[in-house]
Amino acid sequence: MASDRNPFTIAKARIAKAAAALNLDAATTELLSTPQREVWVALPVKMDDGSTKIFQGFRVQYNTARGPAKGGIRWFPTETIDTVRALACWMTWKTSVVDIPLGGGKGGIICDPKTLSTGEKERLARAYIRAIAPVIGITKDVPAPDVYTNGQIMAWMMDEYEKIQMECHPGVITGKPLELGGSQGRGDATARGGIYTTRECAKAYGIDLKGKTCAIQGFGNAGQFAATLAEEILGMKVVAASDSKGGVYNPDGISAKELVAYKLANGSLKGFQGAKDVTNEELLAIECTVLFPAALENTITEENAGNLKCQIICELANGPTTPEADKIIDAKGIHLIPDYLANAGGVTVSYFEQCQNAQNYYWELEDVQKRLDQKMTNAFKAVYAMSEEKKVSLREAAYLVAIKRVADAMKLRGWV
Ligand code: NAD
Repeated sequence: MASDRNPFTIAKARIAKAAAALNLDAATTELLSTPQREVWVALPVKMDDGSTKIFQGFRVQYNTARGPAKGGIRWFPTETIDTVRALACWMTWKTSVVDIPLGGGKGGIICDPKTLSTGEKERLARAYIRAIAPVIGITKDVPAPDVYTNGQIMAWMMDEYEKIQMECHPGVITGKPLELGGSQGRGDATARGGIYTTRECAKAYGIDLKGKTCAIQGFGNAGQFAATLAEEILGMKVVAASDSKGGVYNPDGISAKELVAYKLANGSLKGFQGAKDVTNEELLAIECTVLFPAALENTITEENAGNLKCQIICELANGPTTPEADKIIDAKGIHLIPDYLANAGGVTVSYFEQCQNAQNYYWELEDVQKRLDQKMTNAFKAVYAMSEEKKVSLREAAYLVAIKRVADAMKLRGWV
């Protein structure tokens, strides 16, 4: 990987910029730029054909100044330690910006889950937990699902950890099925958190959302819930949505519920009645009040950012906007709610899952949603206040808020 594209090099450049704006000293900046602990593990797994295969795994605990590390476990064929480091670093800012008492972590196993049988996946999941058991736990580091891992894998991992400890530890991992101590409200938490920040953003900039229009790029978990909740919570009208095969558009509005039902039944949006087909590029240029990028990274670039005709962008996807596009968006006066604030609803409800496991008492759905609203609202307000104070974009402000909180915690502990 060329050094300038290395995700951890990019993450460190971000820290350096924020540290300069916050006048942090050299030692603080260096510690913020250094993973606190990395564990590399070799995982021998018996395969179905009788052979033994050795998998390579990582767990990075980037910073625990504000609390135990928190972050997902990815199973990815081209996983690298630098990607895991960068994502663990990013989790540190994400838990900080929503002000939950956790640090940042991430794990990864180099593997192609599509080629593994269910039995091989279970043995791999258990081998990974046996290898990292000494460094995880509710007071140390709490993993969760991420790319190509899910509730079933979390259930095996929790079970393996409990076997080692010989006692119940549901809080060792989040994203569990409800039957094993998962939280109500986890399913739509990412989109719901984004919708709450959109509501606050509109209030802050005096934009009325009721009856106004939104477009959604990417119609998977995050995009589908964003559509239904934009209608339900914000009173907005969905005019366009797209997936990897293309999109649909109707300026008079599309029923989110019908569109979700159609996508679930047909696997794509193609052929949906009552709307015309649009390409993904055309969708970005549609005039609307809010645009929700909810697909992949780097979909809003310097080539298409000039065509945007929205007032607010709520980045539900991770990294949908390139730095070059950011400049164009700022110049156009579009208010962009940055990814690790906009999509922090998921980790926030994961934290609620940890709280419920610790209490061994489970909250009603309404309680989860009310607390999520409070967290997301307060997070947006803190970022907005910083952006007004320093006269910077919401993205820059989110970094300043998050990094300052971690730096303050390190100072109070006497680390720097
Ligand atoms: P998903 O796989 O359920 O959905 C992704 C959708 O994007 C699919 O509909 C796919 O067809 C579509 N898509 C792919 N390429 C596209 C393209 N070029 N143009 C338009 N659509 C395209 O994934 P998800 O869980 O909804 O996640 C979406 C994004 O949100 C990712 O960036 C993810 O990292 C981020 N995110 C999700 C969660 C969560 O809880 N689901 C949490 C945090 C961040």
